[in-house]
Amino acid sequence: IRPTAHYSMGGIDVVKFDDMSTKISGLYTAGEASCISIHGANRLGGNSLTDAVVTGKLAGLGAADYAAKQEGFGSGKRASELAQKWQAKFKQIANGSGKANEMYELREELGAQLWDNMGIFRTGEKLDLLSQNLEGIRARYDELRVADVNPVMNTAFTDYVELGNLILLARCACLAAQKRLESRGAHTREDYPKRDDKNFLKHSIVTMNDAGELSLGYKEVVVTEFSLDGRKPQ
Ligand SMILES: Cc1cc2nc3c(=O)[nH]c(=O)nc-3n(C[C@H](O)[C@H](O)[C@H](O)COP(=O)(O)OP(=O)(O)OC[C@H]3O[C@@H](n4cnc5c(N)ncnc54)[C@H](O)[C@@H]3O)c2cc1C
Repeated sequence: IRPTAHYSMGGIDVVKFDDMSTKISGLYTAGEASCISIHGANRLGGNSLTDAVVTGKLAGLGAADYAAKQEGFGSGKRASELAQKWQAKFKQIANGSGKANEMYELREELGAQLWDNMGIFRTGEKLDLLSQNLEGIRARYDELRVADVNPVMNTAFTDYVELGNLILLARCACLAAQKRLESRGAHTREDYPKRDDKNFLKHSIVTMNDAGELSLGYKEVVVTEFSLDGRKPQ
């Protein structure tokens, strides 16, 4: 028996709530992958499945509507270019030279780093350390190669891609946590124990440019019928 993360707060920024569209034309998001500000800074138990059902329906209808309005699906050139890019990447990475355990050891190390330095209770010092260590993990990830060369059902390559996504997500979360100098929801900064609505009643939005660099911005929170009372001891 071991503890696990059962939810990722935040997600892909949604620009229009009634169809779950994002800034990227034709990309729709729903459920845990989406961020539409309905859970506040800490999703309450049980609310995720309702979220997935509601936003899933909206996104499905939104995407279907988008698809119906397209005059065609193009020449397939872009899809073919992307497929070729991934095939080249596969050949480069799954070239048989990787050591079987190296990738899984790195994943374990990533988990340990996040557990130790970016658990629910955080400090600026620990987050800065994590940020440095993530750069090291990223550099080691870039050197990884997959031992299995099979192009069909290559789960080691899937694990490789997923590990890259985990590292990227960890970097985004760490950057946002470093700059959020307050405590709110599941983000408890031991060095900033109070909630600071004046400066931080906003979403952290991390964007990546084509060079792979991350930048942090903010988006206002839309407050509707529930007022912003803090939690009070019973
Ligand atoms: C242990 C645990 C207990 C939980 N208990 C509750 C609870 O009691 N109540 C509650 O409301 N919520 C609970 N949750 C949270 C809830 O289960 C999840 O938030 C919810 O299931 C997310 O649904 P989803 O469809 O958004 O994402 P997921 O269920 O994660 O679905 C995403 C799917 O996309 C697939 N996928 C990923 N990448 C790709 C790709 N590149 N190409 C194609 N497919 C891909 C995945 O394989 C997966 O099937 C719990 C979560 C956990 C882990």
